[in-house]
Amino acid sequence: MRTVRSAAELPCEGEIGLVPTMGAFHEGHLALFRAARADNEVVVASLFVNPAQFGEGEDLARYPRDEEHDAQVAEEAGVDVLYVPAADEIYPPGFDTWVEVERLGSILEGEHRPGHFRGVATICLKLFNLVRPRRAYFGQKDAQQVAVVRRMVRDLAVPVEIRVVPTARDEDGLALSSRNAYLSPEERERALALPRALAARDRSLLDGLEVDYFEESDLEPRVLAAAVRVGKTRLIDNVVLEGESS
Ligand code: AMP
Repeated sequence: MRTVRSAAELPCEGEIGLVPTMGAFHEGHLALFRAARADNEVVVASLFVNPAQFGEGEDLARYPRDEEHDAQVAEEAGVDVLYVPAADEIYPPGFDTWVEVERLGSILEGEHRPGHFRGVATICLKLFNLVRPRRAYFGQKDAQQVAVVRRMVRDLAVPVEIRVVPTARDEDGLALSSRNAYLSPEERERALALPRALAARDRSLLDGLEVDYFEESDLEPRVLAAAVRVGKTRLIDNVVLEGESS
């Protein structure tokens, strides 16, 4: 595996599968890498902690970063190229252009994290333009992100196929997330209410946690999605409701 820091060094031959990430790799990321490996000649993973998708007072400064470990596990999962762009390649001086997916980007997460999906849609389009993948891989864990990116790809006729990989969970049911590293053992125990409430379709199991939303939404597929705060950590998760009547 090669680590490259500028788009000029990216591969320009072969059918490329792209996995956009913010690093701190866990089994959820690895599932995306493996899916990309199975479908494509060349697998590129991007690693960029995108400031534009963090709001003021969010965890940008303390977001977990460990490029050395990430490079090792990405290589083991079959990634060919780890693209770790410099910030000014993504946001050149004078940067002034944003992608806004208006309705889908303003509900649920978008209501609680204004500007988040503008940051997500913009960096995804930028990465698609730099890497020129045939396919790009996203996790169902971030169901609304998938819906926003799909909408953008359709609306702007972006020549990439979006593929979605099921949510990877720990044995206790908690969806894997780089942010789980923030949880104390006691908080982690309390966080288990989130997957349990979603599995049972029962909001009352979240009593005692601060709930941002617990809501059904048609994100193609229809999901029950939730966001909670456990101490200072904000966690999101969802279950697919396919086949269930609303
Ligand atoms: P992140 O590095 O957190 O921005 O995530 C990069 C990609 O991995 C996104 O498409 C996420 O949806 C996906 N992802 C994160 N956690 C999981 C998980 N537990 N299962 C499946 N995909 C995940």
